Formats: sequence, structure tokens, C-alpha cells
Amino acid sequence: MTMTDKTKPIGLYIHIPFCRSKCPYCDFYSFSPREELIDEYTKRVCEELKNTHHTFDTVYFGGGTPSFIGEKRITEILGNVAFTNNAEITVECNPSDTGDKERSFDFSALAQAGVNRISMGLQSSSDSERRALGRRAGKDEVLRAVERAQNAGIDNISLDLMLGIPGQTAESLKGSVDFAVSAGARHISAYILKIEENTFFGRHPEKYSFPSDDETADLYLKTAEALKEKGYIHYEISNFAVPGYESRHNLKYWKLDDYLGTGPAAHSFIGGKRSFYPADIKEYLAGCERICDGEGGGEDEYIMLSLRLREGLDLDKYEERYSKTVNPGFTEKCRLYADRGFGSFDGRIFSLNSRGFLISNTVISELLAELD
Ligand code: SF4
Repeated sequence: MTMTDKTKPIGLYIHIPFCRSKCPYCDFYSFSPREELIDEYTKRVCEELKNTHHTFDTVYFGGGTPSFIGEKRITEILGNVAFTNNAEITVECNPSDTGDKERSFDFSALAQAGVNRISMGLQSSSDSERRALGRRAGKDEVLRAVERAQNAGIDNISLDLMLGIPGQTAESLKGSVDFAVSAGARHISAYILKIEENTFFGRHPEKYSFPSDDETADLYLKTAEALKEKGYIHYEISNFAVPGYESRHNLKYWKLDDYLGTGPAAHSFIGGKRSFYPADIKEYLAGCERICDGEGGGEDEYIMLSLRLREGLDLDKYEERYSKTVNPGFTEKCRLYADRGFGSFDGRIFSLNSRGFLISNTVISELLAELD
């Protein structure tokens, strides 16, 4: 078990469980609230953060839609957070809340409060594909929102793309990638659409024409290729960044660093222990405690998370961390996958490339089967 050094800054995730409406593919904990509920929620989050003894070097407002609560409440929450001078502070924004001047979402106020990174859901630059995903803003509105953030001095912009959207083609995807790059996104996340049973897509798949699994895999590889040509590093299965713009906050999840999560459905990992708040705003507002979720950071998890990253699994670090030696069957598997063109292995560091990321579940389960 790892002991926590309380003087060491950790990550902070703040869940904002509100959205204007529900997207047809989404199964996150979020809903459309009354105005008074947002105020009550803001107050509870502020109280909780004021009383925490931690210092944070990354802060991430995720959701839900953080921009939906407006910049005043976001800055109020940040006013209760002890963050370091060089902290990376990200706010997820929906262009529908922020794109038009008349809606007066004030990016400058966010920048003054310390926000230095904005993450926006572009999903696609094709308005018909965006509509299929239930997105109200068109691509012009997305562009205006990005420009307004940049003009406020926030140049670290991350845009999300989605792969496997109904009607998506290699050509429309190329348009989306080019759009994100030319908008100045320093970080691009490309997620493969997963149809969850309890969503509108999951209940009515017959209404849509989704690309097949093979077509979606091809879209993934095309995205990786196009972004590589533009100078982005494919540093994690679903994430690409101009060097130096990798998400410091998300890297904490993948590197098993400590983070505190607040809000319903938010998870924490501190001192080797996992915990979470129930996905129920009433319980959260009533002051419920986090539920313990046992020990985390075991060797299976370490291997799985390391192989999500381009830097891969360093066997020296693994052996030191878990006081053991990997057996020859494990290294043979690493060599085999490297020889087949799915990654590289120099005898001590095994990493997957874009083709390898596509089959990472298979690779990981084969490697885990080789552990003693
Ligand atoms: S905006 Fe995001 S969190 Fe909200 S419903 Fe849509 S996908 Fe889900």
C-alpha cells in the first residue's frame, strides 16, 4: 500500500452533473436542473473544497457540462481551491453555452481565475453528424467559442472528435480533423462511439446507419495518421497532442498518481485507495461520505494503464514497484507483438503503436495471463 505525502500536490476532478439536454449516446451522470439546484450544488462543492487539506497541481471541471453553470459559479468554486502557481486548470465547455457573445460567457473571467485549458466537444465538423449526436451548435459556433477562449489568452484548447458517428465517412472525418487542427487545437481526443444499452442510440439502433466495426477501426487509424502528419503525438489510446500539451490531469489517472474527485459519481484515488461518491445528487447535497472501493494500483492495473500510453510499460519500473521479476513468457509475448508491427520492445520497454492500441484489450489480457 502507498502512503500519501500530504505536502505533495495532487489532481482534483470536479464533476458538474448538469446538461441542457441529454445527448442520444450519453450514459454519464447528468441531467437538466432547476436554477436553484445549481446554486445549492455550487455551495456544497465550495464547502467541501474549502475544507480539504490538499494542494492541487491539476484541476479538471468535467461533466455533464461545466460551462452550463456559467463562469461566475466556476470562478467561485475555484476561489475555494488551493492550487499551485503552475497548475493546469481545465474547464469542459459546450459551444452552445459559450459561442455567442450575447450569451456573455466570459472566458476572460475564467482566465483571470486561473483557468488555462478549455476542452470542447467538437465531435465532428459536419453539422449533419453533429445533429445526429444531438449537438445543437454548428461548426461555426464551435469556431467562435474557440476564438473567444483564445482571445482571452487561453491557448491550450482541446477538441473532442468522435469516430463511428452515423453517416461518418473517411472524407467527412478528414474534414473534422483538418477543422480541429486549423482552429488551433493543441490537444485532440478521438473517441470511438460506444453504443450503451441505456441510451437513445442503444434503444433505437435501427434508426441509424452506424459504420461497421472494421470501418470504425479504419477511421481510427486514418485519424492517427492524419494527426501524426500534422505533428501531433498519439500519446494515449484516444489522445493526441502537440508536444508539451499532453493533458497533465488525465496523465495522473493513467500513471496511478493521486487525485481527489468531488461531486456525484466522482472517483478518487489517494494513498492506494479508491473511493467514489454515489451517482445521486440528493445524497451528495445531504453531505454523504465517499464510499470505499478497496485498494487500487495493483500490478494488473499498472500494466493495463501503462499500455494505454505511447511511452508504454517499463519493466524495470514494474519490477521495482512490485518487487518481482517478469517471467520469460511475458517478454516473449511483448517481442511477438512488436515483431508483428503492433509496437516496439527493446527488451525492457514495451509500447504499443496506433495499430497496437486498436487491439490493446487482446494484448493486455494475453500479457496478464503470463503473470505468476
Ligand atoms: S453534453 Fe456531454 S455529458 Fe451532457 S448529455 Fe451530452 S455527452 Fe452527456
